[in-house]
Amino acid sequence: MTLNRRQFVRALAAGSGYTAASARGVFAQAPYDLIVKGGRVIDPSVRLDAVRDVAVANGRIAAVEADLAASAIETIDAAGKLVVPGLIDIHTHAGRVKDGPSLCLADGVTGFVDAGSQGADAIAEPVAIARSAPQIARVLVNIGRAGILPDGDTMNLARADVGAARDAIARHTDLIVGVKARLSRDVAGTNDLEVLKRAREVASQAGLQVMIHMGQTMTALPQLMELLRPGDVVTHMFAPPPNSIIDDRGRILPEVLAARRRGVWFDVGNGRTGHLRWDTVEKVMQTGFWPDTFSTDWTPEGRAAQVFNFPNVMSKFFDFGMPLDQAIARATVNASRVFEAFRDRGTLNVGAPADIALLELRSGSFEFVDNFTNTRTGHQKLFPAGTVLNGKRVA
Ligand SMILES: [Zn+2]
Repeated sequence: MTLNRRQFVRALAAGSGYTAASARGVFAQAPYDLIVKGGRVIDPSVRLDAVRDVAVANGRIAAVEADLAASAIETIDAAGKLVVPGLIDIHTHAGRVKDGPSLCLADGVTGFVDAGSQGADAIAEPVAIARSAPQIARVLVNIGRAGILPDGDTMNLARADVGAARDAIARHTDLIVGVKARLSRDVAGTNDLEVLKRAREVASQAGLQVMIHMGQTMTALPQLMELLRPGDVVTHMFAPPPNSIIDDRGRILPEVLAARRRGVWFDVGNGRTGHLRWDTVEKVMQTGFWPDTFSTDWTPEGRAAQVFNFPNVMSKFFDFGMPLDQAIARATVNASRVFEAFRDRGTLNVGAPADIALLELRSGSFEFVDNFTNTRTGHQKLFPAGTVLNGKRVA
């Protein structure tokens, strides 16, 4: 068998203990598949913020270095752009429409969770979309068996069907990673606590996590917090009263602080209705209780209003004091920790899957609208500027 140089380098890299770096030592000019050249690389997983070239081979990050001399089959000129790990959005409804995953991918989202678009009855729909998505995708099953309903997922308590949810999970164990419980008064009414108990029961039996949709619940938040375990997720953490995470004197509730201490995640979940109000955002941000993760609560409708895209959601926090690298951490390395399926992502470490988001950071005057038509003016905004998935440039 004759190997050309490229195949030889690959054989070395894939084989017994040789790394791509040592293979490159054999041939100083070994070609890569792709080099993203000259961008400002921000990788919070290693506290890197510097101009670097990122080289990719065999779908993985092969080198992150200044002025790489090696050649590549394809080069992306990233001068003037940010080069960050592919974004991971843990609360979307991209599983609701067929082109959801590809639309999000164009925004730099190389991994997502469909968070409860469907319950047991139609779970096959988001599961099928997640399975055929170009990027890694996982699904939360709504504890309401009919999924999201205009008149409330679990207003009829019988819809919070433990057996049906358990069966749905059993049918799709490879893609379902948790149970979603939407608890607002217009979704669950007075059933919120019982709905959460049932979601918790299903999740615990299957060894999965719960994500609660908080805000404007009938039951007081401390009582709901009691049921959350390490690894569970609270989304819509900036929801305004009643039952927000701060009291009327602007202090984070002790039960919320305790939940974070024991390992419950607090997530943004931007969305369009009832989840985000600037005065609550401001008060919470001032306490220092910052989100663990950003997420969009993306829907096709959100694409046209308020949410737009993940980089836009990230930008909303700059003028509340969040530095750029911290904003990126919340959309990359932090998000990769929440669900195990994403754990080797959210980083540009050599050896990691080569999922990369290119972003443009523009300065100017940008209007951001909350879920209550209040506007705030920001002075910096991130725009999607290209995606690399599994080492390949997304067209
Ligand atoms: Zn949602």
